[in-house]
Amino acid sequence: MLIAENLQKTYRRHAVEVPVLTRLNLEVRTGEFLSIIGASGSGKSTLLHLLGTLDEPDGGRVLLDGKRIDNLPSRARDRLRNETFGYIFQFYHLLPELTALDNVLMPAYISNSTLGWWRNRARLRHRAEELLEKMGLGHRLKHRPRELSGGEMQRTAIARALLMRPRVLLADEPTGNLDAKAGGEIVHLLRQINREEKVTIVMVTHNTEIVSETDRVVRMAGGMMIEEAPPQPRGPFHPRLAAV
Ligand code: ADP
Ligand code: MG
Repeated sequence: MLIAENLQKTYRRHAVEVPVLTRLNLEVRTGEFLSIIGASGSGKSTLLHLLGTLDEPDGGRVLLDGKRIDNLPSRARDRLRNETFGYIFQFYHLLPELTALDNVLMPAYISNSTLGWWRNRARLRHRAEELLEKMGLGHRLKHRPRELSGGEMQRTAIARALLMRPRVLLADEPTGNLDAKAGGEIVHLLRQINREEKVTIVMVTHNTEIVSETDRVVRMAGGMMIEEAPPQPRGPFHPRLAAV
């Protein structure tokens, strides 16, 4: 579904060139929950940005359903970013002045004209509330980010990423700022979303402990994929978290 072909990316700062991706190939399959692991600085975030058209490669291509997306005009990329991809980041990127509910609705505010928003607001609000309830935050709709725990902020960010019904969720170290318990809950929720909402998930992380619940793990080093592990058996992640 989503393919990276011979991706190359080099950052340039002053006269210094930092090659990050040298020849990276990856195939993401429809419906899978894929983990990409690799040391800090190995280019995981760079790769995710290229897959999600947040940045452009210096060489190679990114294909979605067989069509190139890395060189689209900016309006077409805006659409992809708003409708096809959902993004989750390590530090949540919630707007501090907005309630959890308004943060979740932000993609809809951005994509709709004022008129479109007023026409669709009941349906969108309902979807946002439903998602927050699914994330175990039905009692936190009116809370602001500073009144939420780290895990709750990340769950709010996940609800926001799902609002527009993306086909692919790109998660960059989604548990990187959380303790083991809250991080485990996040991965468990992502697993549930992957199955119930039929969303393909690409998660990058340097935490090898949280990948056991995902379908497939690939490893990056030296600017490319160096290892593709066979599918792992699925099992209940942790019975204690089943209620989340
Ligand atoms: P990871 O997410 O695996 O930790 P990144 O993709 O963030 O790795 O970064 C890979 C390398 O590229 C690092 O050495 C980092 O310092 C460098 N880098 C990342 N973004 C930029 C940038 N915007 N400008 C210059 N160098 C960058
Ligand atoms: Mg990173």
